Amino acid sequence: MNTAYKRIVVVGGGTAGWMAATSLATALPGSTVELVESEEIGIVGVGEATFPMLRDFHKANGIDEAAFLRATNGTYKLGIEFRDWRAKGHRFFHTFGNFDDLAGPACLWGQYRRVNDAALGALGEQCLPSVMASQGRFATPPREHPNLYSYAYHFDASLYAGFLRGIALSRGARRTEGRIVDVRRRADGGVDQLKLDDGRVVAGDLFIDCSGFVSLLLGRALEEPFVDFSRWLPVDRAWAVPSEPGGPGLTPHTVATALEAGWAWRIPLQNRVGNGHVFSTRYIDEERACARLLELLDGPALAEPRLLRFTTGHRERFWVHNVVGLGLSSGFLEPLESTSILLIQRGLEKMIALLRPDARPAAAAVANYNTGMTRVFERIRDFIILHYCLTERRDSALWRDMASMELPETLAFKLHAWRQTGWLNMNGEEGFEATSWLAIHAGMGNWPEHADPVLAEVPVAEALQALHQRRDHYAAVVASMPTHEAFLRLMLGR
Ligand SMILES: Cc1cc2nc3c(=O)[nH]c(=O)nc-3n(C[C@H](O)[C@H](O)[C@H](O)COP(=O)(O)OP(=O)(O)OC[C@H]3O[C@@H](n4cnc5c(N)ncnc54)[C@H](O)[C@@H]3O)c2cc1C
Repeated sequence: MNTAYKRIVVVGGGTAGWMAATSLATALPGSTVELVESEEIGIVGVGEATFPMLRDFHKANGIDEAAFLRATNGTYKLGIEFRDWRAKGHRFFHTFGNFDDLAGPACLWGQYRRVNDAALGALGEQCLPSVMASQGRFATPPREHPNLYSYAYHFDASLYAGFLRGIALSRGARRTEGRIVDVRRRADGGVDQLKLDDGRVVAGDLFIDCSGFVSLLLGRALEEPFVDFSRWLPVDRAWAVPSEPGGPGLTPHTVATALEAGWAWRIPLQNRVGNGHVFSTRYIDEERACARLLELLDGPALAEPRLLRFTTGHRERFWVHNVVGLGLSSGFLEPLESTSILLIQRGLEKMIALLRPDARPAAAAVANYNTGMTRVFERIRDFIILHYCLTERRDSALWRDMASMELPETLAFKLHAWRQTGWLNMNGEEGFEATSWLAIHAGMGNWPEHADPVLAEVPVAEALQALHQRRDHYAAVVASMPTHEAFLRLMLGR
C-alpha cells in the first residue's frame, strides 16, 4: 500500500523546523503538521545573514517584508565585503548584482580587462549593488526593473523562528513542547513514534528532522554516515557575540574579515551588531580565538561570547526511509556565504514537490532528491573553497595550507576552465550564479590566461567610453539614493 504521508512530524523548532512547518502547513493543507520542540534545549540562535532566495520563501508563504523586518530587527543586505582575503589591506565586494553580458564582444569583465585603464577603478564599480554597498546606500529595485539587482537580509536569528512560529500556527500547524528521549522504529527501518520525557508519544508517517547538530533521527537513530568536508574547510568552531552599534554603522552588507586562523563576521541589525570568529582549532586555540574576536568589536559586548562547535560536511543521504533531514541535522558548511538557510530552503522546495496528496514518492524520486541535495552541498562547498584557495596570503599556517591544498575535482575543473577559456562553467544544482563566481575570481585577482579574441570586435576607445559612462552613471544613481538607515526607517514607518 502506498498511501500519502498524512501525519507529518517536524522535530525541532529552530529556523529549519519553523520554515518547514510554515511551508508544509501552507502547501499541504490536507496533512496534519505537528512540530515538537524543547524550550529547555533551545535553538542554535546564530545565522543572521541570508541569501536573496529567502525572499522567494517569504513570497511563497505570503510573508510581508516590513512585518518580518520589524519582528526580527532585520536590515537589508546587498552582499558581503571581503577584507584581507586576497592580501592584507585588500577589499572587494560580492554583491547580488550582475555584470551584464558574461561572454561575447560585449562581455563587461573582458572589455574591462582589455582596456586596462586604472582610472576605471575596481570592476565592482561597474556593478550597481556593489557601488550602493560601498556608499552605505540602499533602495529596493525600481518597480519597472525588479531584477536590476537582488538583495537579502540580516536578522536576529533568535527572533526569526518565533516569528515563523506564529505564522505556521495560524495556518494549522500544531506545536508540542517536550524533550524527545526515545525514537521508536518500524520493522522496515523507518521511524514510527517519538517518546517524550513525560511519557507522551508522538506518532507520524513522515518525520522532518530539524533537530540541529544533534541530528536526532537521521544521525542518531538511523545512523546515516557523515561526509566530512574538513580536509577542504577545516574551520570547526565559532565564537559569537553581539555588540553595541558603532564603527561603520548600519552597513547594507555583511563584512567578512580574514584572520590568521579563520575569519570574522560583522552583521549589523537595527539594535545591535552580530559578530563572530569562525576558526580552526588546528591553527588557534579557543581562548586566543575568543580574545581575537573581542579585539575587533566596534562597541562594547552585550553578552558573554558563545562557543559553537561543528564539522563541515553533510549526511550521506538526506532522505532515508520516512525521515528527511533539514538544516543543521543534515549538514553544515561554514557560514562564509550565508548558505545554511538557502540549503534549508532548497531541501524544502525539493521535498514538497515530491509530497503528493495521493501517494508517497517512489524510491527513485527519493534517490534523486538525495543526489540533488548532495550536488547542492558540493557546489556550494566548491564556491566557499574558492575564497580560500585563491589567496595570496602566506602569513600564517592556515593561509599557506589553503593556498596549496588539493582541490575537489569539480572545483579544479572549474578553475581550469576559467583560466584557460574565461568560461564560467555552471552545472546543475549550483547555489551561486556565474556572476557570483566572477565576483570572487575578480576580487581575488584570478583572471583567464588568454583574452577572448571576440572582444576585439569592439574598438578599444568605444569599450573604454562605455565603461566610463557606466561607472559614472552608477555613481550618480547611487548618490541620489537614501542611506540604508533612512530607507529602513521609511520601510518600518518610523
Ligand atoms: C557559527 C554559525 C554561524 C551561522 N551563520 C549563518 C548565517 O549567517 N546564515 C545562515 O543562513 N545560516 C547560518 N548558520 C546556520 C544557521 O544557524 C542554521 O542553519 C539555522 O539556525 C537552522 O538551525 P536548525 O533549525 O537546523 O537547528 P537549531 O536552531 O539548533 O534547532 C534545533 C531544534 O531542535 C530541538 N531539539 C533538539 N533536540 C531535541 C530533543 N531531544 N527533543 C526536542 N527537541 C529537540 C531544539 O530544541 C531546537 O528547537 C550559522 C551556524 C553557525 C553554527
